[in-house]
Amino acid sequence: MRALFIHGEKDLRLGDLPEPELKPGEYKLKVASALICGSDLHYYIEGGIGTRRIQKPHVPGHEFAAWVWDDRAEEVGLKKGQLVAVEPSHFCRECEYCRRGLPHLCTSLRFRGSPPNHGAMTEFIAAPRESIIPVPEGFTADEVAFLEPVGIGIHALKKADLQLADSVAILGCGPIGLVLLQLARAHGAGTIYCADPLEYRAKKALALGADQVGASYKDIVDMTGGRGVDLAIDATTSPDAMAETIAMVRPAGRIVLVGIPTGVNYNAFDAMPFRSKEPTIKICNRMSEVYPEAIEAVRRGMINVKAIITHHGAMEDAVSLFERQGSYRDGSLKSAIYPNGVPN
Ligand SMILES: [Zn+2]
Ligand SMILES: [Zn+2]
Repeated sequence: MRALFIHGEKDLRLGDLPEPELKPGEYKLKVASALICGSDLHYYIEGGIGTRRIQKPHVPGHEFAAWVWDDRAEEVGLKKGQLVAVEPSHFCRECEYCRRGLPHLCTSLRFRGSPPNHGAMTEFIAAPRESIIPVPEGFTADEVAFLEPVGIGIHALKKADLQLADSVAILGCGPIGLVLLQLARAHGAGTIYCADPLEYRAKKALALGADQVGASYKDIVDMTGGRGVDLAIDATTSPDAMAETIAMVRPAGRIVLVGIPTGVNYNAFDAMPFRSKEPTIKICNRMSEVYPEAIEAVRRGMINVKAIITHHGAMEDAVSLFERQGSYRDGSLKSAIYPNGVPN
């Protein structure tokens, strides 16, 4: 079957992957829609994330929707042809962190789409029953695939301890920043400031409910009259995320870092403002089990998925979709690839 392989930096090609072999407890799924995530772009543009490098041709994709494509579906409460979400993390459910209710920090976690585990940008995959998540009738494949980034936003917002009418700053108006914006609004935030150096992204934030937008963290500091915000969130790829969120937050405010910085390190930041403000800092690594909340947020229209998935195409279009999203061209925010054909 066909699959998309990242061979190294800026080297993405269609190739052949054997059909998945089903291990005990696994079921066959046919991929309906796979979205390009910022983390997939790190592999495509840099050939890795931080110190995790691509060693051999790698199939990306962890944000996806699939149809159950297995004759044994009914034995496990599923229907053949049913559209489902798939949790990309495989937890051991036995280690200390799984037992503590922190499965995303599982010590033997395997993540679909993160090397050496191939992802979903292919025709068929195998998944264990516990990773297969039924969704309500009426969801589109793109909405189902987008549940994963919505989950990232929900996980981050849970850490943020957002209080009614809190002022919020969001750095980065990519898909995750725009999800955070909409969730913070639904959650009763006060003034929400968003910043992105790309004007089309800042404008999108305005359209999706931001009160004020700017190009950088400095603009947000100015918009608050120098006070800073109650909650500062980073959803960029900037290695300066620490310094910039510290600059935006008010004394005793909260900082949540969601973005994955380009390169290996965060840049050094001044100790003085950091210490004198006494912020609480939380860091996110993917998400814990928040699919029920993500499904409800999309079902209730808290998240405008159509506004964020800006481009679509078949497997043959994947190189141009990666290239366009990675170079922020043509208003690109997030792209959907349909490995089994573009829906009508
Ligand atoms: Zn992702
Ligand atoms: Zn575990």
